[in-house]
This record gives sequence, C-alpha cells and structure tokens, in this order.
Amino acid sequence: MKRTYIGDLTKHVGKKVRLYGWVDNRRDHGKLIFLDMRDMTGKVQMVVVPAHKEAHQTSGDLRNEWVITVEGMVNKRPERMIKKDEPNGDVEIEVLELSVINQAITPPFEVNQDTSKVNEETRLTYRYIDLRTERMQYNLRKRGEVTKFIRDYLYNEKFVEISTPILTKTTPEGARDFIVPARMYPGMFYALPQSPQQYKQLLMVAGFEKYFQFASCLRDEDSRADRAFGEFTQLDLEMSFVVQEDILQLMEAMFTELVRKVFPEKRISQEPWPRLSHKEAMENYGSDKPDLRKDKNDSNELAFAWTLDFPLFTEQTKEDFYHGSGSAAFAPSHHMFTAPHPDDIGLLETDPAKVRGLQHDLVLNGYEVGGGSIRIHDPIVQEKVFDLIGFTSEQKQQFSHMLEAFKYGVPPHGGIAPGLDRFMMVVLGEKSLREVMAFPKTGEGRDLTMNAPSLATDDQLKELGLEVRKRK
Ligand code: ASP
Repeated sequence: MKRTYIGDLTKHVGKKVRLYGWVDNRRDHGKLIFLDMRDMTGKVQMVVVPAHKEAHQTSGDLRNEWVITVEGMVNKRPERMIKKDEPNGDVEIEVLELSVINQAITPPFEVNQDTSKVNEETRLTYRYIDLRTERMQYNLRKRGEVTKFIRDYLYNEKFVEISTPILTKTTPEGARDFIVPARMYPGMFYALPQSPQQYKQLLMVAGFEKYFQFASCLRDEDSRADRAFGEFTQLDLEMSFVVQEDILQLMEAMFTELVRKVFPEKRISQEPWPRLSHKEAMENYGSDKPDLRKDKNDSNELAFAWTLDFPLFTEQTKEDFYHGSGSAAFAPSHHMFTAPHPDDIGLLETDPAKVRGLQHDLVLNGYEVGGGSIRIHDPIVQEKVFDLIGFTSEQKQQFSHMLEAFKYGVPPHGGIAPGLDRFMMVVLGEKSLREVMAFPKTGEGRDLTMNAPSLATDDQLKELGLEVRKRK
C-alpha cells in the first residue's frame, strides 16, 4: 500500500492508510494504548484496541523514538474529543496492523518537548536527535523556504547562481584565514574563503552581470553572540552596471515580499525602510545598527533600515585587520574593494579619514544582517586604497590578479551579502545563531556531533610534509 503522509490525513477520513514514522509518545491505558506518531509532515494520535490482537501486543513493547509502520483507519474523532487548534486534532488512527522497523535506545532528552533549556553540549552531541524536535524542524524548514523564495525571486530578476571554490587564496574580510596544506606543493597553503568577494567581482569581469549564491564564509575568529564560530552562510550577490540605489531597491523589494510570503504573521515597522547616514546613526543612536522597532516587546515587528555614508576608512587595529602591514593608519571600514564616494575622490590625497565610502549596511532589529558596497573598478583608485591601508608591494602582489583582471574591460559593479543565519535568527526570534543552523560548532569551535577538530595521523602529516610541535 502506498505511503500516506501524516500531514495529509484529513484528506483520507474513512479510508485505510499506510504510515511510516517515529513513536512520539505512548500512553498505555491497559486495554487501550494511545500512540502519537510523527513523520516529517506532522503528528497524529493513534489508538490500538485489544480487538486487533497482534498490533495490541506489539504496541505493549513500544518506546518513544522507535521507527514503526502502521496500517490503520482514519476516523473522525467524536465531537467532544476534537482539538480544534491542533493539526490532525479532528482525526484519529485506529491501528489495524503495526510493525517495528527499528528500535531506539532512550534518547538523551525528550524529543517531544522544546529543547531550548536542555544543556547545549548534549544537544550538539546528539544534534540528529535535537533536530527531530518540532521547533528545530520548524526553524530549518523555514530556512529552506527562505532560500527557495530568494532563489526563485532572483532568477526572476535575471540572476544566475554560481558556486565558487572553497579551496582558494586569502580573501580579505578583515578576519584570520583558515588555511589548508597543499599536498602537491609542500610548504604552500590554500586559504578557505572569508567570502566569495573576489570571485564575484571576477564574475562581473566575466560578463555574468547578475550573480548570487548561498555561500559558506569561513573565518577563523572567536565566536560572538551574533557570529557563529568558523563558518556562516551568506546570500552573496553582485550586479554590474548599477548604482547603490539599485542594490538598495532590489533588497528592499525582495525582503519585503519574502516577509509577506514566508512570514505573514510579521509586520515591517516602516516602509520604505528608513535610511540613516553613519553619522546620524552614531549621533542619534550611538550605533551604526540601531534597533528601530517601535515596540521592542512585539515579537512580530521587523524594523529594517539602511545605514549609509560610512567613512571609507577606520583607524587600523591589528585585531580587525590582518592584511595590512600594521604600520598604516587606515583600515577599510568595509573591505578594500569598496569604492570611495565620487565627490570625495580628491580627499584620498589630502584627508583620507574624511572620505565616505559607497557602503550600505542592512540593519534589522538592531543587528547588521548584511553589508555591501559599490566596488572600485578603476585600477588607479584601487592601488591608491592599497597604499593607504599600508600594503607592501608583496601584499599588493597577492591581489595582482584583481588589478590584472581590471585591465580587460571591467563593468562598474556592486553588491551585498545578507547573512542568512543572522536573518533567520532575528526573524525567528531565536537567541542564538546555533538555533537556525543544522550542525553548528560550539563557541569554542568544536563540532560535537562529528567530534572535530581531530588529530591528523602520522601518515597524513608525512604526506603533507608537516610536523606538529607538541604544545607544552
Ligand atoms: N564580501 C562582503 C562581506 O562578506 C559583502 C559584500 O561586500 O558584498 O561582508
């Protein structure tokens, strides 16, 4: 018999169905045994009566999380038993036949309850069990709906999705690189991309004009409340022949429509989204990502805003900028490919600290959920910026492929990269990014599910020409 999904049961009242899934809960009333069964589409209550002898006997042994299959009748519940607010609250399965596909040992925590209060190490160690819970299923499925919406929306706007390499060279987003030894070139290393920034700009040189991807960004820096350790996902996009206004309008239209379709219960506080200059934001709110919600207790309010007119440079500190020589006064406030405001080009020579950049930050409820900019497409200006941030000729050499590419007909271009994890965290009202990621690392950078990082074998090290110094 063909499988029926639990979420479709109300269409099958009065019919016999075959179900597959997990035991969510079992209540033994002696004669009557009640089972809640769960599959990816929902839960349903089932009743096993002694008249169906074998099924009744098997149900006696069942425990939560056992994998079972059931053949049963979909019955309408008696009027007084109907639970109006629950999915499947008006039906019940009368079990005719039940078999156990696989048993399960007792899980480390209750699966049929919210696990947000359960010890996080335990949850991450047994993430595959944690992800069975209703809230985690909801969060990840919503995340999937969001990526699907965005993908469809952008294809409709003539974008193309292109994947870029994970093994690459340093990409300057101001963090420390993860590096990977190159077996065939002893002593050399790939870097994992902090973002696809350079590739997406090269894709503009390559004539794609409108590109996006859901990109993994890898940055070896300590985790913070709004930054997961090691890796996160961005909706990375780039467009040619645009000005800043085009990027702002596209994002505003896309996120507004997304909220309407995927989160209809949410309200956007102000449309069009408020735009603040960096100066205004700092003066009025003391933050470049102000929380503009009218009522901070309202979990359904979404206050989007733009912060614009950032200074192109900030004062350089070693921690937030690894690529400079450390001796220059300036670090890019976004990244080194951000274009200076055309009115301020002259100031690059005379007063660089006063130059505004064509940077835009997307702010939501007090979080920076995305940043981007119009890029430099003039090799002379790019060199000037390299100089101001104190690049040695060796460091410039690291980016010579960009300067070279820009000699071959580069269109003006710009883009943005909203953080998917951060957006999901804010919109779902979760306190941690880990609540919206399938297999996040701990704050200390460990993957407890797989138990990573782990030691390399001696053979692996030998093959790579590496020696590990024992830590004292
Ligand atoms: N690559 C930038 C970042 O990761 C985003 C962008 O400029 O498009 O923040």
